[in-house]
Amino acid sequence: MHLLKMHLLKPFPDELLGSMLVRAVRDLGLPNARVMTMLFGGRGTMPVLMTREHGIAHAFGMSLKELLFGHTLLPYAVSFMSADMREQALRRLLADVSGGSSPAALAQSSTRFAPFLQFCQGCILVDTAQYGAAYWHRVHQLPGVAICLRHDKPLLVSDLRVSQPRRMVLPNEVVSSREMPVLVSKRIGTRIARFSYRALAGKLPNREWKVYYRERAAELGFGYDPKMLAGGLIAADLRAFYGGQFLGSLGLDFDPLGRAQRWPTKIIRNGDRSFSPLRHVLFNVFLEGVVAASKPVPDLFSRPHRPYDWASREDEVLRRLEELRAECEAVGGRVRLRDLSERLGTRNSLWGLQKHMPRLVAWMKDFRASELSWHKTGGRPKKRRHVRKSSTG
Ligand SMILES: [Zn+2]
Repeated sequence: MHLLKMHLLKPFPDELLGSMLVRAVRDLGLPNARVMTMLFGGRGTMPVLMTREHGIAHAFGMSLKELLFGHTLLPYAVSFMSADMREQALRRLLADVSGGSSPAALAQSSTRFAPFLQFCQGCILVDTAQYGAAYWHRVHQLPGVAICLRHDKPLLVSDLRVSQPRRMVLPNEVVSSREMPVLVSKRIGTRIARFSYRALAGKLPNREWKVYYRERAAELGFGYDPKMLAGGLIAADLRAFYGGQFLGSLGLDFDPLGRAQRWPTKIIRNGDRSFSPLRHVLFNVFLEGVVAASKPVPDLFSRPHRPYDWASREDEVLRRLEELRAECEAVGGRVRLRDLSERLGTRNSLWGLQKHMPRLVAWMKDFRASELSWHKTGGRPKKRRHVRKSSTG
């Protein structure tokens, strides 16, 4: 008997591949291993998350592509790939040969952090009433998602490992389960769930994620230009947004000061290459949820107009004036400040420089009062009777 000729149960909406097979095996009344042998034509364990077996899809009356897009996490796994990469991955996956991209690798990329099957108590009740059976939903297996959006309730984690399909039962038969710990705010948790659902449904905008991330980060004040972003600040703000505990529970925490570990910095540099969808989801929810960069980006990312260094210039002017004064003293006689100004050889006169150079003002005052000055302030004993209070030299 070949399953291609058999009429397996019609899958329920959003039903996970493994759940379809558990129900099919029961419906056939045959041992699990026997059914799998018929499906694979050899020995194989029952796939839960992913398969490359066209025979399974045909037994359910659909193409492998339909099966993968409707009943596995595949659409989520490829949702952040560029169109080229996605096409290539799908071509390899759907090819009727072994080798190339293994389904396990694609499945792992999306489920690495959800090793146990998860379910919603509310869905068990609704599904049983509506379909006569409870079943495993895809949306409940999304990594980082801790609630059921349909019921707005925390998910339960079963003790059934996705890697141990022989033990698999339906969610209403699970003996031991625990509620998922709440490690982020309700608001953020809901946003993660919504975004992940959209990714699974293939409803994310078709965009070049790296470009979008950079533009959005610049808008939020993480840089003056999408080409020059403060990666360290982005990483630190993302960590503050989610908290280390939540990120740690997903295996995605990092030291915000450790350059090598900061995946948010890398995701804006490398974009769609080799990042798990979960990282993209977290990065998107962060960019949508954060109001602005937590602090202004330091000037090192731009080339601001640097103020003129008047103090150094003043040092230079005073040094030259002292030289000229020494020369004049050596020669003897008196000198006008106007002469000194000319000999200084600057574009600005000494009076033009005064407003920027308080020490020059003091020097000029001191000079006017000196014996060297042509117009000595305070008058010269026995030579002048009138005191000139505000000589300009
Ligand atoms: Zn539910």
